Formats: sequence, structure tokens, C-alpha cells
Amino acid sequence: MSEKDYIDETHKEDRNDNKHEYEDVCYICHRPESKAGKMIHIPNNISICVDCMQRTFDSMGQMGGFPGLEGFPGFPVNGQNTDHSPEDHTAGGNGEDQHQEGSGLNLGDLFASGKMPNISLINMSDLQGMMGNRQKVKKKKPKEEQNAQPAIDIKKIPAPHKIKESLDDYVVGQEYAKKIMSVAVYNHYKRVASGYQDGIEIEKSNMLMIGPTGSGKTYLVKTLARLLDVPLAIADATSLTEAGYIGDDIESVLSKLLAAADNDVEKAERGIVYIDEIDKLAKKKNANQRDVSGESVQQGMLKLLEGAEVEVPVGASSKNAMVPMTTIDTTNILFICGGAFPGLEDIIKERLNKHSTMGFQSDLKDKYDDDENILTKVTTEDVRKFGMIPEFIGRLPILFSLESLSEDMLVKILKEPKNAIIKQYKKLLELDEVQLEFEDDALRAIAKKAKKKNVGARALRSIIEDFMLDIMYEIPKDENIGKVLITKEYVENTGGPVITMRGCPELEMKPE
Ligand code: ADP
Repeated sequence: MSEKDYIDETHKEDRNDNKHEYEDVCYICHRPESKAGKMIHIPNNISICVDCMQRTFDSMGQMGGFPGLEGFPGFPVNGQNTDHSPEDHTAGGNGEDQHQEGSGLNLGDLFASGKMPNISLINMSDLQGMMGNRQKVKKKKPKEEQNAQPAIDIKKIPAPHKIKESLDDYVVGQEYAKKIMSVAVYNHYKRVASGYQDGIEIEKSNMLMIGPTGSGKTYLVKTLARLLDVPLAIADATSLTEAGYIGDDIESVLSKLLAAADNDVEKAERGIVYIDEIDKLAKKKNANQRDVSGESVQQGMLKLLEGAEVEVPVGASSKNAMVPMTTIDTTNILFICGGAFPGLEDIIKERLNKHSTMGFQSDLKDKYDDDENILTKVTTEDVRKFGMIPEFIGRLPILFSLESLSEDMLVKILKEPKNAIIKQYKKLLELDEVQLEFEDDALRAIAKKAKKKNVGARALRSIIEDFMLDIMYEIPKDENIGKVLITKEYVENTGGPVITMRGCPELEMKPE
């Protein structure tokens, strides 16, 4: 097979693989096909735009010609004919109108003649594996098509009570948070669907969520994104730094979203970005050094939160010469920020005490000391005092907090949600045809242990895994076992589970 046939063949394969959905990106200048024009495909999934290819040939021609290309019309042989004018190389041309009488090799001619030069001069092994689908961007629909078809059908957005009902299936408690999020998300997607028809622009419903660790912040956002079937990116604010410093650029959160949307820019532009640990971006107190990971990141995020066209690296977390770029409009992206804000309770208490100790109706100073859910009384002023800059808080108009999980809630989390941990274990043992049961007291004992660890529902899994290890190891050994009952004593390490053999009286298994 000649080189040209090979190139054509790989080109055809690539096109079939991607079903025309993805744009090729020039390996050299990183412009997508829609901007750079026709691409030349070479093996290893590499595409090069006509302009860059032309420039490469021109510079090679200037260096002394191409071996094996003598005889191509207008092609320089042994360094002759190198007076290619600089205007010929300007980016954006399509290569066809660049040909001048007597200039160097012109790719327009080559396309027309159906011949390709011997491009084995490029070292393929250097380029190998650099360009997969990971760095390709899905083609955007033409503008008219985008306008004719709204991004979201307003009738298909579930009503807030429907969204909350679906959340109820997975998330225990947090009634206020579920309600406020359902309404905010509903309004957000209504805003996306309605556009700016009558000049009234609905404000963006970005949210700031405050809640102790393990209270379900990430879980709520994940569940919401799954129910709405929109792409979700979860980023950690602690890894973000001002552009140019070690760490991820702020735009990296959009790269993640783009990846979650299969590099489909339009889909990503309707997605949700959750930024966790946002409290770590608080202004540093008495900082003498430059604050590259705190306040300046808040500043840098302002334009994303508000809505802007942002250049985003595709398939990487930072911009560099090897990474193709694309533009994402963040106007319709819903940003949710969350954090535990340690120390915020004291700021709230101080404010409340200030009010309550003044005047005739003054209260005791320690009135709020035992209030576990003092965070529910948070105001933007408290968050500002914590160290978030006012412009940042202003762009997150929906402020709410989550309750810390009580023992009762932890018990419910164990057994009620659709994918509750207990249900998962039951299913696992069911596959061995063994019935798994938990005494109510056992569940309470697990919740008690978890509550002591102070990491919310996160502790539940590790506690259960601890004592379930023996069960999961021992049970498959004996095919006669029909049922296992987990007792409070077993959870507390003072007794064993009750094992029932198939068709036999109950026997107690002693833990080793
Ligand atoms: P954080 O608030 O620190 O982001 P997560 O959302 O990561 O906490 O919660 C950790 C895990 O605890 C979740 O994966 C989920 O399984 C469980 N969980 C937490 N809160 C709830 C809740 N209210 N209802 C059901 N499960 C919960």
C-alpha cells in the first residue's frame, strides 16, 4: 500500500470511529477544524491543518528541499525557489488561495493533483499517542440550529416538588437544603430554557452550601446531577491556584466538566460544577506573602461564576503548548460551592450574642453554645467575616446550610436510601443465598459509634466494613448457612452474630 493510500485509509477509519461528531484539532496550532479549515490526517490519529503543513514544507524547503519530491509542480529542488512571501502563511487561510506563481510547494496543488508528499520526514514515534479522542472537541451545531432549538425543553424540566421527591429517595433529612436546591435548580434550567426573550434576564442561581463534613454536600450535588442527567464536575478548591503558580488553574474545573460531557461543549455549557472545600479560599489573616491560593483564586473565579467565555484546555488541567484549547461559555453553567467553614459557628454566635445581650430583652451569653445547628442561622455577613470576598459571595446568591447528622438520621441513612449500605450488603449475601438481617439495636449501635467519630455519615461504611469482614469471609465457607442476624453485641464486640443453618435450630457463631 502506498503512503497516500495508507493515509487515506487511516483517515477513513478515524472518520468512521468518530461518526463525524468530533472535530479534529490541528496538532501544531491546536485550532479545531471549524477554525483552521481542512485537516490533513497522518497515521497515529494526528491531524494537521493546511496552514501548518504549508509552513512546515516552506521551512523545510528553505532548508534545502525535500528528498524524493523533485518533480512536484512548483516544488523547490535543492534550496532553490525559496522566496515564499510571508503573507502566504497567515493563519486562517484555507491554503487554496495561497498559491503564487513560482513560490514553494503549495498544498492546494497537492490536493488537486491527488498526490501527497513523502511525509515520513516527521518523526511519527514522537507524536505517537498524543492525539486521541481525549483531545478532540465535539462539533458545535451551526448557530441557526442552536437558536431554533432551545438547549432545554421547558416542559421537560421536572417541577421542584418532583426534584425533591427524587432526592428524598437517596438523601436522608436535610429537608431545607433539598427544598432550596430543588427550587434553585428548577429556576436555573428555566432560565437556560427561556433565554433573554423579553429583555428580562433571570439571575443565575449559583449556590453556596455550608455543612459539616460527611453531612451529604457532595452526595446531594451528585444525586441532583444524576437525576437531571447533566454533566457534573467536582473540583477541590484546595488544588486551585492563581494562573502561573504550581497547582491547577481555575479553568481546570471547566476542563473536567468538558471531559464529563464527553468533550461536547454544548452539553458542558449546561452542566453543574461543584467546588468543594471552598472555605479554604478564605482570605489569609495577617498574610505577608502573596496569597496565590486564597483570595486571588476567589478573584479569578468571579468571571466564571458570573458567565464568561473562557479558553479551556481540552484533556488536561493546565494550558501548555501541547494542549488544544476550546472556548466554553459559562453563562448557563450552574456553580455550587460547598465547605465546612470551621469556625463560622463562633462568628454566628458572636453576632447573635451581640444582638441578644443588648437592651431589655437580653439573653444569657451562652444561649447558643449547645445549638448543634447554629449554622442554619448563617448570613452573608458571617461568610464575609470568615474571609470570603463580597464580590464572590455576591455571585453565589443562594446561601444555605446542612444540618449535622443526628443519631436517628444516621440509622435512617443505614437502611432507608435506595442504595443504603445495608441493602448493598444484603444483596451481596443474597447472591450466596444467605439472608442478612440487622437487629434495630445493632443499627443504633453503629450510628452511636459513627456519631462519636464526628465525620458524619462517612464513618458508617468503615464501621460496618470492620465487622462485616469476618462474615463475608466465613459465610461462603459453609453452604449450610441460611441466615445471619447482626446483633448489637456483635457490633460492640461483646458477642457474636446469630447464624441459622438451613433447616437447623439457631446456633451462635463465636467471633475469633
Ligand atoms: P460532604 O458533606 O463532606 O461532602 P459527602 O456528601 O461526601 O459529605 O457524604 C459522604 C457519604 O455519606 C455519601 O457518599 C453518602 O453515602 C453518605 N451520606 C451523607 N449524608 C447523607 C444523607 N443525608 N443521606 C444519605 N446518605 C448520606
